[in-house]
Amino acid sequence: MKALILKKHTCIEEHSLELLDIPKPVAGAGELLVRVKVCGVCRTDLHLVEGDLAKSPLPIVPGHQIVGVVESLGPGCQIFKPGDRVGVAWLRYTCGACAFCLSGRENLCNQSRYTGYHENGGYAEYVKVLEAFAYPLPDGLSDEDAAPLLCAGIIGYRALKRCHLPEKGRLGIFGFGSSAHIVIQIALHRQCEVFVATRAVEHQELARKMGATWAGSAENPLPVEVDSAIIFAPAGQLVPIALQSVVKGGTVVSADISMSPIPQMDYVTCVFHEKVLSSVEANTREDGRELLALAVAIPIKPHVHLFKLEEANRVLEKIKNHGISGSSVLVI
Ligand SMILES: [Zn+2]
Ligand SMILES: [Zn+2]
Repeated sequence: MKALILKKHTCIEEHSLELLDIPKPVAGAGELLVRVKVCGVCRTDLHLVEGDLAKSPLPIVPGHQIVGVVESLGPGCQIFKPGDRVGVAWLRYTCGACAFCLSGRENLCNQSRYTGYHENGGYAEYVKVLEAFAYPLPDGLSDEDAAPLLCAGIIGYRALKRCHLPEKGRLGIFGFGSSAHIVIQIALHRQCEVFVATRAVEHQELARKMGATWAGSAENPLPVEVDSAIIFAPAGQLVPIALQSVVKGGTVVSADISMSPIPQMDYVTCVFHEKVLSSVEANTREDGRELLALAVAIPIKPHVHLFKLEEANRVLEKIKNHGISGSSVLVI
């Protein structure tokens, strides 16, 4: 099968993902073999290529926002049948037995494994997945609209849950990529007001078009105090700015898997007054099921740009340079 393979960590400008022919995977016990239709491109794929994450085994096929069709079943599968449409996301395995798994926090499981990181992902014609970690996809969501929901959407949704945004409250969003442009749709649906700080002018324009009350540069404080804030950009210098932007008792959540160093902070304006700084680590399957149901109910409509598999290097380079508004999806 055709697949894009990463053999060594380099900066994305070297276009290090190589299109190769590799053996089609075989579904093992409890696994589905999925024919990939589309795969969303995530900033985490960029971190993976550039070696920003704890070093993963190489070579690897990236991609963890996969929509496809079940081609065949490994022994013991009971949930899906061939022909079913499924989503394959970042969380690939948890032990199911540790204190985290048993308390509804499987995202913190010490034995968790991830798609397109520990095992081959969806920048390929086929992928395999444990059926317990595959999502049935609701009707009413197209393949290309479902793909960005599977990481950008789920992680954004978990960040929104963790930032304790009050009913009809004010939300600050720092960075406005794929995840943020999905979160704004949920926040506005809940009649919240959204203020977006982002460097790229095109991203500011999209935010305003989507209903943000204000969108501007991230270098200055927001024009108003907000109840909660989510940082989507992997930029540590945004942490003190976001903390200074929230009200007393407000919460700031970082949604990124990697972040540049956080500068020294002023205690009184950033931390005192019971301000809370937190992060998001992956997601639980429950987060995924909730987000997919919400996506149909609201409905959530991502701004999707379609590309060919072969264009993944260029797409990741554009994401690095804030050159894409909304979500990027590879058509396999
Ligand atoms: Zn566990
Ligand atoms: Zn992702």
